[in-house]
Amino acid sequence: MNSLALEYGDDILVIDAGMMFPEAELLGVDVVVPDFSYLKENRERVRALVLTHGHEDHIGAVPFLISELDIPVYGTAFTLALVERRLDEHALTDKARLNEVKAGERLEIGPFGIEFINVTHSIVSAVALAITTPLGVVIHTGDFKVDPTPTDNLLFDLHTLAEYGKHGVLLLLSDSTNVEVPGYSQSERAVRPKLEELFMRAERRLIISCFSSSIHRLQQIIDLAGEYGRKVGLIGRSMLSATEIAHSLGHLDIPNGLLLRPQDIQDYDPKKTVCLVSGTQGEPMSALSRVAVDNHKHLSVRKGDTVVLSSRIIPGNEKPIFRMLNHFARRGADVIYGSSNPPIHVSGHAYSEELKLILNLVKPKYFIPVHGEYRQLAKHAKLAEHLHSHTLRETFVMDTGDTVVIDDKGARRGERIAVGRVCIDSGSLDDVVEDIVIRDRRALSEDGFVLPILAINKTTGKLEGVPEVVSRGFVSAEEATRLMAESRQVVIKTLESSSAEERTDWGVMQEKVRADLKRFLNKQTSRRPLIMPVVLEV
Ligand SMILES: [Zn+2]
Ligand SMILES: [Zn+2]
Repeated sequence: MNSLALEYGDDILVIDAGMMFPEAELLGVDVVVPDFSYLKENRERVRALVLTHGHEDHIGAVPFLISELDIPVYGTAFTLALVERRLDEHALTDKARLNEVKAGERLEIGPFGIEFINVTHSIVSAVALAITTPLGVVIHTGDFKVDPTPTDNLLFDLHTLAEYGKHGVLLLLSDSTNVEVPGYSQSERAVRPKLEELFMRAERRLIISCFSSSIHRLQQIIDLAGEYGRKVGLIGRSMLSATEIAHSLGHLDIPNGLLLRPQDIQDYDPKKTVCLVSGTQGEPMSALSRVAVDNHKHLSVRKGDTVVLSSRIIPGNEKPIFRMLNHFARRGADVIYGSSNPPIHVSGHAYSEELKLILNLVKPKYFIPVHGEYRQLAKHAKLAEHLHSHTLRETFVMDTGDTVVIDDKGARRGERIAVGRVCIDSGSLDDVVEDIVIRDRRALSEDGFVLPILAINKTTGKLEGVPEVVSRGFVSAEEATRLMAESRQVVIKTLESSSAEERTDWGVMQEKVRADLKRFLNKQTSRRPLIMPVVLEV
């Protein structure tokens, strides 16, 4: 949920507006965005939103922010195209004032003179910001790594950063994600040897999953497909839209005739295909999860296929990811994931030596580590200590909501502002949930709860007995008897329409039963009880 406000006098500039995906305990909540109350209270002072790059943790809350504040948005073409995809989902495209900028360009917004500086990161078209204010220059790195050999040859513009450093920088805000990792991160090109080995070795179909916004990674796979005579099938909504956007903007080079239409993938010679599938984190409804349980209309995994996760396993997602990989292994696929040498995935964030390099080039007077958990910010602050004998006066390790005030006397901590998270249900802007506890309590008090209980035989995947559905505080006893009987039929139907493998995966079944019952009960009663499926494996 990255978002930062820079103020000078009567002008506020907002940098990034990100979202996060909820932790598992936020049942029923689809996205979490920052609480923008402070910006709303100061709405007449907010001039613009500037975006560093198109990752969800930087742009995911844009629709939410601009539906509240009528401000222009600035970003590179690729970043804005990803923003537009989000705006479409909320029918906000007409309302938005999107302004394209290019690395190397400068822009004046009120008292802020903003220069966009090309950086290397795991997404194309990422920029750092050099913001000249009447008090001095503020550098915001955005997310970055220092990749000396980026696959698109668009180099990190270290010269410009160094130039600012030479003339004196008031404040540096820098990415802290990988501060705990010593040394230098590996170049994006480092994944090529492992990928190439897989292209050489794979006896049948190659199925590779990576983040759909990892355009550099997709380009390397597409290049290898051309070299090794395999056609490319794209599977999954986000994979299709991200590649289309990147291709139309010239970030992705796809030779004519290389792509297979999704409906042709299954019939094409498996020895001559590679499929790029979205869903690296085992999200139950993602394309890869559906392929894993053989419930995807365009792709079925067979014995001898190779399934590759060219991505990080985000902590907290181990269970769904490993469950998904188990399904693939059971289908006879060779499953490649995790750390290896040479690597199958490299990080998009700088390691500690790269962070030091940026600190030394920029040589700020004040430093605020950003983008990381508190312990990482604190580590990053330590990393800058050697600069005290040069230019550095003070480093501020800040919690969300903290402020720093800088004037001609120096820098100090300011008053905290109210911040927090806003939970949004079903991805709709009207579905704001102030607090998960309140939301659950309200749902319980107004609409009660519904508890579907089903017992599934772990080995056969068959339903044991009739599913039970009970409710409390939902509808009148009479109506409840009728509705619960019909709900049982809904649950049975959900089970019948699921593949045997899906049925043995309680995570998938829970989500499917919840979604189907939610739709049915909402249609019948226009109410939204809390639905908590219980799947017993017997
Ligand atoms: Zn980020
Ligand atoms: Zn990023």
